[in-house]
Amino acid sequence: MTEIRDTVILGSGCAGLTAAIYTARAGLNPLVLEGHEPGGQLSMTTLVENFPGWPDGIQGPELIDNMKKQATRFGASFQTAHLNAVDLNARPIRLDTSTGEISTRTLIVASGASARWLGLPSEQALIGHGVSSCATCDGFFFRGKEIAVVGGGDSAMEEALFLTRFASKVTLLHRREGFRASKIMLERAIAHPNIELRTNTAVEEVLGVEEHEVKGLRLKDVKTGTLCDLAVSGLFLGIGHEPNAKMFAGQMDLDEDGYIKTTGNVLTTRNGVVVPGVFACGDVQDRRYRQAITAAGSGCMAALEAEKFLEALGH
Ligand code: NAP
Repeated sequence: MTEIRDTVILGSGCAGLTAAIYTARAGLNPLVLEGHEPGGQLSMTTLVENFPGWPDGIQGPELIDNMKKQATRFGASFQTAHLNAVDLNARPIRLDTSTGEISTRTLIVASGASARWLGLPSEQALIGHGVSSCATCDGFFFRGKEIAVVGGGDSAMEEALFLTRFASKVTLLHRREGFRASKIMLERAIAHPNIELRTNTAVEEVLGVEEHEVKGLRLKDVKTGTLCDLAVSGLFLGIGHEPNAKMFAGQMDLDEDGYIKTTGNVLTTRNGVVVPGVFACGDVQDRRYRQAITAAGSGCMAALEAEKFLEALGH
């Protein structure tokens, strides 16, 4: 018979690792399933300046690494596995993963969100050939080159600022006049001598598909409809993220954009009725705040709820 675990945590970002620390300290020996983006979004970021307790900031990957060490110290175990299917009706809950079947009494979903793409065929064709959604991963390849970043939120500002370390010029393209980014990040980008901001500008096409490398962008002024080309060697997307919750469709309530709906902070529902033993935390259920600290906070809540649930079952 397969072992029945007390707690399985899906995702190893800030929310999942916080849930792992709490459930591990509660003696639940959590198993953390790390998917295709281990460490989540923090592992792809640079300096985190707003996580309390780090007055000089901390690098995102280091923060994640610390959390993982902390969870491991209390007995959490980690496995690289992809979830193929899940049966939330079964008791214990059954997970069909790339490394086999797992049974668990509680499931904490902390599967986060993944980078969004524009969806242009030319963009898709050139991913890895000058098109990227991860400045920290790929910025290095653009030393001394001119590049563009798309987006008007904090991610786009952060990427543009980070990329000035390598690129000779960064053009930040935003589809409308107003920005979503926080004042401080926007002001930093505006003040930077190597960043040029272009508003009301949409990317129509990424040029260079035949050459297998980005040669430029065809841009459209959304107010006048005028087209023009911008010569760049790279395009970075900073246009937000999609929740990783598709595999739960039909078994859990999702909102119109695919985020997991929760009640009582972290309890999941199906047709408005609580799904027992299944909790969701972090960016997969948070379309509003999406901060490292709020993800950590909800990871803690999910762990405490899982603990209470198991206690009521007599475990
Ligand atoms: P966001 O705030 O949702 O911003 C996404 C931006 O991309 C928006 O400006 C949006 O334009 C644009 N966009 C979306 N789809 C587009 C498309 N198809 N074509 C062109 N543009 C498109 O996402 P985010 O910047 O990733 O930030 C998410 C959260 O993380 C926020 O709460 C943010 O504060 C936080 N964050 C914080 C930091 C930091 O403090 N260091 C760093 C990164 C992220 P519209 O404005 O027109 O909708």
